[in-house]
Amino acid sequence: MSTHAVGIDFRSNAKKALGDASLRASMRHAAETFASKRTGAFASVPVEDWRDRASEIRLNVLDNLPDYLDRFTAAATRAGAVVHRAKDAAAARETVAYLLKDRRVDKVVKSKSMVTEEIHLNDHLEMRGIEVVETDLGEYIIQIAGEAPSHIIVPAIHKNRRQVGKVFSEKLGVEYTDDPVVLTSIARKILRKEFLSAQAGISGANFAVAESGSLVLFTNEGNGRMVTTLPPLHIAVLSIEKIIPKLSDLAALVRLLPRSATGQTLTSYLSIITGTRRPHERTGSKELHIVLVDNGRSQILAGECRDMLKCIRCSACLNVCPVYRTVGGHAYGSTYPGPMGIILTTLLDGMNRAHPLLDATTLCGACNQVCPVKVPLVRLLRILREQRVEAGFTSPWERTAMAAFGFAAKSPTLFTAGQRLWKTFLPVLGIMERSGTVGRLPKPAGKTFRRRMS
Ligand code: SF4
Repeated sequence: MSTHAVGIDFRSNAKKALGDASLRASMRHAAETFASKRTGAFASVPVEDWRDRASEIRLNVLDNLPDYLDRFTAAATRAGAVVHRAKDAAAARETVAYLLKDRRVDKVVKSKSMVTEEIHLNDHLEMRGIEVVETDLGEYIIQIAGEAPSHIIVPAIHKNRRQVGKVFSEKLGVEYTDDPVVLTSIARKILRKEFLSAQAGISGANFAVAESGSLVLFTNEGNGRMVTTLPPLHIAVLSIEKIIPKLSDLAALVRLLPRSATGQTLTSYLSIITGTRRPHERTGSKELHIVLVDNGRSQILAGECRDMLKCIRCSACLNVCPVYRTVGGHAYGSTYPGPMGIILTTLLDGMNRAHPLLDATTLCGACNQVCPVKVPLVRLLRILREQRVEAGFTSPWERTAMAAFGFAAKSPTLFTAGQRLWKTFLPVLGIMERSGTVGRLPKPAGKTFRRRMS
């Protein structure tokens, strides 16, 4: 394996992000707000019991995924939906494009869905002559700005209101304002027309219930309901691990997901969609297609990092991660950022592309502590780091340094000599490189751990 595989250039992306004061201020403010709201939302509930139960549900899903997928397909079909299985991104894109083209659809409205970002659905549909309008406000902002999401639930987290005002005035031709209420009402007016004129709606789903064939959507803006009920055709695109066995399991996840994501005790809109509109019903799509996307997940399920598929995309691990909070989502150069993003991107895209992301972590464990379904993020990061070393993706300098450290660490004499040398030369190196990494390292303790214990 090449030791010089290029991959995502996380280091230069991060350097660029560090030089952007406005980005850093937006990130700090947003992440601190979410993290403190999360703490408040869990203050008086038995959070550990809830996490244990949610973790059990998700592990059961992973243990029986093919069976639950079959059950979901049968139940959704009985309710009037058509279920498609897509083995990879190309198959998923093609399935959606075919459904739309076949029905002569030239405009779709879309609610937020990370898996459609993962498979690059919008670009594909636009290339096929189908206009795609994102209707989640954050997604709409970045769509008209021509950017990618930088957070899995707050896609425009990196922008402040002045930047949003500038995007609106430049791209929509409206008078500049940075008043969030006015900006929202501008978007609402435009999007209302789009909802009414689109011939199809595309959504994701937070969960899919095997026993009833239902799709479950958590949204805060109501756009998910418009997308899934106004147009005659609804296409839901979701990854296979979104399955949960029973509606009663939803209760355990409903109390955790919004609390972990935004610090809300309940999401503003919780929609459960089972099949198409019945004859006596006044709302709902007339045709429902559900595309279950594998795109490498079956392979992940069979491997050492299968627990990553427990993830319910709440974003809590992003909000507490010191790296994510500092550089934001775009630095990761991938659909999924933050601790979960590093792991998922490496598993989905391969080590060759994603290996530099494995440095984007301090392994501090903050992510482990907040994950509502107990994904062992630090353990998975370590496994992938080991695989990176085994695959030869580390630099010769790093390999030499680690080999030298390993050699010295096995000999008490060499180790003690090394500690003394480090203590002597660290202040000198710090003076030489005041603003660099060495200059920021903490001072060594007066007495070493071994001397204190002896
Ligand atoms: S890994 Fe856990 S904390 Fe991170 S997004 Fe997934 S569920 Fe949330």
